[in-house]
Amino acid sequence: MPKNKGRNAFFFFMADWRKRMEAQGRKFPNGFKDVQQDPDCNEEWQSLTKQEKGPYEAMAKQDKVSSQIGSKDKKTSLGESISALEQKEKEALMFIKNMQENIKLIIDSAVNLNFVSQLKFCFVHVNWFFTRLVNNTCEYFPAEYAFGVFSLENGIEEVHHAIVSAKIPLGFRREALEMSGTTHNIPVEYQGGDTDFAVMYVKLVNFLESRKLVDQYPYLYTTRGLTQAVRSLIGKLCDEAEQDKEQFKIYDLESLFIHLANEGYKKRKDREIRFIPAYAENMFTRITYIFEKGIECDFHRYVDGGSEYCSKAVLYHWAWTLCDEFCEPFGVNTKPGIHYPSGSEPRLSEMENVMNKLKIEHAPSTSDFNAVLSMTGVSEQHRLKVSSRTSEEELRRRTESKPVQVIDCSKLQEPVGKSINKAIDKFVPIESPIEEKKYVSKYLNEKPLRPPNIDPFAYSSMEDFLLRDDESFPPIGGRGVSIKSRNPRNPKKAPLGKGQGHT
Ligand SMILES: [Zn+2]
Repeated sequence: MPKNKGRNAFFFFMADWRKRMEAQGRKFPNGFKDVQQDPDCNEEWQSLTKQEKGPYEAMAKQDKVSSQIGSKDKKTSLGESISALEQKEKEALMFIKNMQENIKLIIDSAVNLNFVSQLKFCFVHVNWFFTRLVNNTCEYFPAEYAFGVFSLENGIEEVHHAIVSAKIPLGFRREALEMSGTTHNIPVEYQGGDTDFAVMYVKLVNFLESRKLVDQYPYLYTTRGLTQAVRSLIGKLCDEAEQDKEQFKIYDLESLFIHLANEGYKKRKDREIRFIPAYAENMFTRITYIFEKGIECDFHRYVDGGSEYCSKAVLYHWAWTLCDEFCEPFGVNTKPGIHYPSGSEPRLSEMENVMNKLKIEHAPSTSDFNAVLSMTGVSEQHRLKVSSRTSEEELRRRTESKPVQVIDCSKLQEPVGKSINKAIDKFVPIESPIEEKKYVSKYLNEKPLRPPNIDPFAYSSMEDFLLRDDESFPPIGGRGVSIKSRNPRNPKKAPLGKGQGHT
């Protein structure tokens, strides 16, 4: 421990000297402080020879070594202390446990008081320009953020929204431009946003002040995927304003959803409690509502694109998602614009409306005939025309038409003489046996017999073979042969084809 670092040779001498003096009856009420200031002690230390100081020096050295071993902590490849990381991990687990307990407590007590619909939750969403590593943690440079107060009864009640126009640090402009272009479309260093993080902190605190419960800021809910980004935002605001960031607790919406569902789904037969965690994750990542103009921030309202990423719009989506699930079980009457997008009915009743308007018409008009084809690709019109023929007409039509020639290829594999007769249906006129042969040979000629890929020369002896080595007959394919390996005493295989060259 660093505590031991200052223990030099003089320290050990003092300890020794103190023992001797105490044996003589001297008292040191302030301990080592008295000993250190005692002129006798100092004088004696000064008068010691190098040899006499030796044992004390040795003790100091030993102490230094052992203290170093004690403090030597294993580090990760990023230079972080492993024990500190383990501690962090423990704290994170503890945080999650506390979060679950706290949310459960809030919901349970609200259920008991029949107060769930009026419970207020604070949502946070943040958009960022780029990310970078600062002290081994990921920093998200904010572009836009929104804090909203939500309750099942009133939906999103109030929103605190900000667009960040702070200067982008050198080297991150490109990433910021790309991020902006692919998501929120907020221009880099946009004129008209906030530039000072300390001022932003004050504005945020003013917004949250009235929501405080017993000196504690409300828990800030966001989705699991955004937790790091929100933590980074809070950290940045607090750091710039020199405030403690631990006063803000960031909780996840999925956990809130799960705890609400544990209560709400008791009354909802179409939901199964065991699927809740997976269901909750899905609910906040999918896009449920078509993004309409009207819920986004002032910036996104007048800008093309990016409004589905708008922090303010996202808060409404989270709110609608929760309302869609929990308004009914907790007895809240839904209203447009509050519990679902204004201008549209809830999705289910909209579907019902459409279904009610559907009419099945039993008598299709003739104009539809051409449009509808049967399974065999025949139009209704054609079918009617065919069926209107008289039997005589149909018979004449059949006798006039050419017979159909059917060749059963499977029968061709039998011995040639008989097979053709069998293979070609009786409708096919067979003129003569010669015709038959022609047919067969033509068939064979289609696939000319081709000799396999072999050396075109016949070998009469081994010498013959060795004479035509690589120079006169290079290998086909393969990697070729180096001069070194061309040893006539080591007969090689003849190249038999592509890829089968020399080894
Ligand atoms: Zn926006």
